[in-house]
Amino acid sequence: MKFKETGEKDSDLLIFIESENDPSESYLAYATSCKLDYSNLRPIVGLVNFNLGKMDFSPEKFEENVDTTVHEILHILGMSGHLFNTFIDENGDKRTNVIVNW
Ligand SMILES: [Zn+2]
Repeated sequence: MKFKETGEKDSDLLIFIESENDPSESYLAYATSCKLDYSNLRPIVGLVNFNLGKMDFSPEKFEENVDTTVHEILHILGMSGHLFNTFIDENGDKRTNVIVNW
């Protein structure tokens, strides 16, 4: 895969989108960061998976679907428990005493 080795020119974040169609599952979508920049620990690759079997694509659900997409992208950008301990402070130092409370 081209992006795996070379990344994408002039991009800061690459998001892969995939889907499943499983109405027996309970989730609409999930997302995660897949790779962090070693220099600043910021996400540079992420993945969003939509469960088409649980989504409603009628026009009146458009905004809900946008909200779901934004929500999932925020997980990639850092609002995710496994990334909290990679946050850095204004000096570029890793934050300590990160509390993850689910
Ligand atoms: Zn979520």
